[in-house]
Amino acid sequence: MISEDDDDFLTEFESEYESDEERTMQTDEEFDWYCHYCGEPNVVWVDLTVPGKQDFVEDCSVCCRPNRIILTSDYDGNYFLDVRQLDE
Ligand SMILES: [Zn+2]
Repeated sequence: MISEDDDDFLTEFESEYESDEERTMQTDEEFDWYCHYCGEPNVVWVDLTVPGKQDFVEDCSVCCRPNRIILTSDYDGNYFLDVRQLDE
């Protein structure tokens, strides 16, 4: 009797855990970008919960110059990163 109750509890817990995993949405993404000035590769974390186009400034980790980064997405959920000179 007691062991049967334990099994039921375990099964319920597992199925609940799996559905939680499926519902988890991606809220951020790591993007590679290349410095507009020195051409060195950089990585930036972008918050994907922000709707529409994102336009922000990131300092290059190699030459420390500020790069303007523009992130756009299409209806299929693909993201595009555009790196520009800050004063352009
Ligand atoms: Zn640079």
